[in-house]
Amino acid sequence: MGINQAVVDLIPNPLVRAFAAPYVAGIGLESGVDAADRFFRERKFLSTLDVLGEELNRDEDVETAVNLYLKMAGYFSSRPHCSISVKPTGMGIHNSYEYCRDNVERVVKSAVEHRIDVTIDMEDHTLTDITLRMYRELREKYENVGTVLQSRLFRTDKDIHDLRDIPARIRLCIGIYVEPSEIAITNKAAMKRKLLEQAGKMFDYGHTVEFATHDERTIDEALALADRKGVAKERYEFQFLMGVPRGKLQRQLIADGIGVRLYVPFANEWKDASHYCKRRLANNPNMAFYILANLLRKILSPSA
Ligand SMILES: Cc1cc2nc3c(=O)[nH]c(=O)nc-3n(C[C@H](O)[C@H](O)[C@H](O)COP(=O)(O)OP(=O)(O)OC[C@H]3O[C@@H](n4cnc5c(N)ncnc54)[C@H](O)[C@@H]3O)c2cc1C
Repeated sequence: MGINQAVVDLIPNPLVRAFAAPYVAGIGLESGVDAADRFFRERKFLSTLDVLGEELNRDEDVETAVNLYLKMAGYFSSRPHCSISVKPTGMGIHNSYEYCRDNVERVVKSAVEHRIDVTIDMEDHTLTDITLRMYRELREKYENVGTVLQSRLFRTDKDIHDLRDIPARIRLCIGIYVEPSEIAITNKAAMKRKLLEQAGKMFDYGHTVEFATHDERTIDEALALADRKGVAKERYEFQFLMGVPRGKLQRQLIADGIGVRLYVPFANEWKDASHYCKRRLANNPNMAFYILANLLRKILSPSA
């Protein structure tokens, strides 16, 4: 199963661009910041901003990305509704672990000065170890760093256990990457059950859980879990990809005093946005169906 990357590469860029439009804030830092400001002003949504351009393979491109993140951190000192998301493949992991960690640390340090949070996103299983190592090394020095765990990976129970000693801000998701059955759950319902079980453990360890899911049932069950365990509302939030239509549910969460954060990606150039969308499509072919279904949902029920 899976759409081969070569097949995805054949999709014409204008078509990718049309499909990507609702999911990408635009071109340039200002487009991302404007979107985040608008979401906060109009709907009280928080945002985490991500520069599209993962899998950078040249140090000079990484340096450009780091500088953009540093500029972003400066913009955010007056915007507590914003945080930053970074990916190891965009911060120089092609070169070496140390080079990548130092780049992420530059961003984290600058974010500390501007009192904002940074999340190290989780990519495919080949990067789980280095991402968690980087998270731990930086978290021991800076309180504003968080990372992501993917419930589909068999290893995640142990990762949660290993992280129990440091209070963590963890985004918990099923994981976007289709992983081999030797190392991961392949049934989606099982991934979601696992996510809830893991969230319960994380609450018990005193962590802050950022639920990254659009699944309404999982969100209801997460709310019930937090309620049962008497977890304060400051210790969890719900995160959604920008563009996925969940307006009614998000409005209800805000009305109930629960944090809603959107993942707001922007690109330096459209080619980066197209590349990102094509790679995501190759990694997880279900995305094509989601995008079409979301489009239909918006047409049939604009307030959803
Ligand atoms: C804020 C945020 C941050 C994330 N960060 C990471 C990360 O760092 N690492 C990682 O591996 N994964 C990440 N993910 C992706 C996540 O792991 C899941 O792959 C994704 O959210 C789909 O799972 P679901 O729980 O929403 O359930 P699903 O059953 O997959 O989706 C439920 C519904 O949500 C909608 N939907 C889901 N995904 C998309 C999409 N891509 N585009 C359009 N509509 C969609 C569809 O309507 C779908 O029917 C993140 C997700 C979010 C929301």
